[in-house]
Amino acid sequence: MNIILLGPPGAGKGTQAQFLVEERGMVQLSTGDMLRAAKTSGTEMGKRVAEVMDRGELVTDEIVIGLIREKLEQGSEGGFIFDGFPRTLAQADALGALLAETGQTLDHVIELQVNDDVLVDRIVNRAKEAVAAGGTARADDNEESLKIRLMEYYKKTSPLIGYYYAKGALTGVDGLGAIDDVRAEIAGVLG
Ligand code: AMP
Repeated sequence: MNIILLGPPGAGKGTQAQFLVEERGMVQLSTGDMLRAAKTSGTEMGKRVAEVMDRGELVTDEIVIGLIREKLEQGSEGGFIFDGFPRTLAQADALGALLAETGQTLDHVIELQVNDDVLVDRIVNRAKEAVAAGGTARADDNEESLKIRLMEYYKKTSPLIGYYYAKGALTGVDGLGAIDDVRAEIAGVLG
């Protein structure tokens, strides 16, 4: 089973993806994590995307589609969770084509529904927790970048809700509840 977790930054995609990895042996494909890894290790691509990411803008479709293509070609027995991908209609089309080419299907698109007030609080808390734990906050977990990330989401990613609804693949889940309630709701959808 392959699924997409769709939702704005701070909706809980990464948290819920982690549960699915533990419970179902699925493989989480987070393009954000892959790009941060490239940034940290200082690859050519990492250097190219660093500023764009820190500002909160989307990197090019070509780069993220390339990252996903590599992973899909490797396959996964437990299935893939796409977390933070696709984020544009072009990426959604590319994902459909890649899955078809590799003989795989897209089984569910779960939209984590939240409101903006909660997102800002969650992201600010995530930054504080990272620092309290002795680490550093994500470079884009600040109010300035968050505003841009939200705008990018509404302009470029939210059209995917209609796109997957029209394909009959979309299920909305209330992302405002307690983490375990959201987890149970997702489990109900996936069966
Ligand atoms: P995330 O960890 O999913 O919040 O992603 C962090 C940042 O990485 C985003 O703000 C974008 O700059 C970049 N990014 C991650 N995934 C994508 C994607 N699918 N398309 C374009 N940019 C992405």
